[in-house]
Amino acid sequence: MEWMLTPAQIEFRDRLRAWVNENIPKDAAREAERVDGNYPHHLFDRLAEGGYHATAVPKEYGGAGADYTTQLIQSRELSRSLAGMIWIWGSTSFAGANSIGLYGTDEQKRDLLPKITKGDLKVTIGFTEPGGGTDVLGALKTTARKVDGGWIINGVKKWCTSAHVSDYVLLLVRTNDKVERKHHGVSLFLMSPKAKGVTLKPLTTMGMRGLGTFEMTMEDVFVPDDRLLGEPDKAWYMLLPTLTNERMLLLGTCLGILDGVAEDALAYMKSREAFGKQIGAFQAVQHHYANIIMARHQTELLAFDTARKADAGIDTFLEVTMGKVIASEHAVNAADLGIQIFGGMGYSADNDMQRYWRDARLMRFSPINNEMARNLVAEHFGLPRSF
Ligand SMILES: Cc1cc2nc3c(=O)[nH]c(=O)nc-3n(C[C@H](O)[C@H](O)[C@H](O)COP(=O)(O)OP(=O)(O)OC[C@H]3O[C@@H](n4cnc5c(N)ncnc54)[C@H](O)[C@@H]3O)c2cc1C
Repeated sequence: MEWMLTPAQIEFRDRLRAWVNENIPKDAAREAERVDGNYPHHLFDRLAEGGYHATAVPKEYGGAGADYTTQLIQSRELSRSLAGMIWIWGSTSFAGANSIGLYGTDEQKRDLLPKITKGDLKVTIGFTEPGGGTDVLGALKTTARKVDGGWIINGVKKWCTSAHVSDYVLLLVRTNDKVERKHHGVSLFLMSPKAKGVTLKPLTTMGMRGLGTFEMTMEDVFVPDDRLLGEPDKAWYMLLPTLTNERMLLLGTCLGILDGVAEDALAYMKSREAFGKQIGAFQAVQHHYANIIMARHQTELLAFDTARKADAGIDTFLEVTMGKVIASEHAVNAADLGIQIFGGMGYSADNDMQRYWRDARLMRFSPINNEMARNLVAEHFGLPRSF
C-alpha cells in the first residue's frame, strides 16, 4: 500500500490514526451511536480542535486544501472508529465544503468556508423525498418560487440526517416545472432548518442512531437570494461532482469499516478460547479472517486507484460508481463474518461488529442503491438505459 502514497500522505495517515485512537476511540463512537438523535457534538468539536474539518476546504479560505487521496485517508481512518458516524465530518466538510467551494459566490465562500474550517458550521443534505431517493428527480416535489429578495420553499424531505443540529441544509428543489427533461429546472439552496415554516419529525433507524435523521416539512419558508448556490435551474450539473465526491467518501468509509472489522476479528481470534485453544487456530475461523483481509485488499486497491485518478484530474464517475458497489458489499460481508467470528459477542451492543454491520448495510442502498449503480455501469458500456 505504501508505494501508492506520498511521504506527506503517509505522515498524515499515521498522525491521524494515533489521534483517532486517543480522541475518538471505538468505545466513544459506540457510546455516541446508541441513542436516537443524541448528536455527538463533543466528537464534532474534537475534530475541529484537531483541525480535521479543514481538510477539504481550499487554502485561501483557511483550509488545508487537501487532495482527494488525503481526503480518502481521512475518511478511512475516521471510519475505522466512527463507522457510519463519519457523517459528522462528511456532510459538512465533504459535501458542504466541496459544493460551496466549487459553486459558491466569492461572498458565500468568504462567509461560510472559514466557519466550516473552524467547526463553527454544520451542513446536511436534503435531496431525498418521501416519493423516493433512487429516482431523486422524478420524486422531487419540493418547489422554490421567486419573490422579492429571495425564494419561498414548500415541500417535504425525507431522511434529512442531523437536520436538528445543522445550520444549513443543502436543499435540492424544483424552480422550474416547464422543462422538457427532469434534470433541468432544479436548484440548490442553503436553507436553515431553523427557519420559520420548517418542521422536523424524527425517524427511528437501525444504525447511525446518534446522528438523528428527520422528515423535514417546509411550509412557505423564505430563503434569501444570497443562499441560492450556483445558478438557478442548473443544479443537476453542479450536483454531479458532489455525488462523485460522496461516493469517494463512501469508499473510505467502507475501507475504514473493513479495517475495524479486521483488527477486532484478529484480536478476538487470539484471545477467545474453545476446546483448549485459541479460536484463531481453527481453520474455518482462519478462512473467515482471510476472506475479510482479501475483501479489504481489493477495496484498498480500488479506492486509492480512484482517488489518485481524481487527483490527476481524470473523471472518476465510473470508478466511484463501480467502487461504491464493490466496497459496500465487501464491508457488509466482512462485518457479517466478523459477527460469526465473535459468536454471541458479535451480536452484543458492547462490541462494534454489529455496529459495523448496521452501518455498512446502509451503504448498499445509500446514497445510491447498488442496483442503480449497476444500471449506470452497464449503460456506460453501451447498453440501453434501463430506467
Ligand atoms: C439512515 C439514513 C440516512 C439518510 N440520510 C440522508 C440524507 O442526509 N440526505 C438525503 O438526501 N438522503 C438521505 N437518505 C436517503 C437515502 O439516500 C435513500 O434511502 C436512498 O437514496 C434510496 O432511496 P429510497 O430509500 O427512497 O429507495 P427507493 O428509491 O424507493 O428504492 C427501493 C428499491 O427499489 C430499487 N430500485 C429503484 N429504482 C431502481 C432501478 N431503476 N433499477 C433497479 N432497482 C431499482 C432499489 O434498488 C431499492 O432496492 C438516508 C437514508 C437513511 C436510511
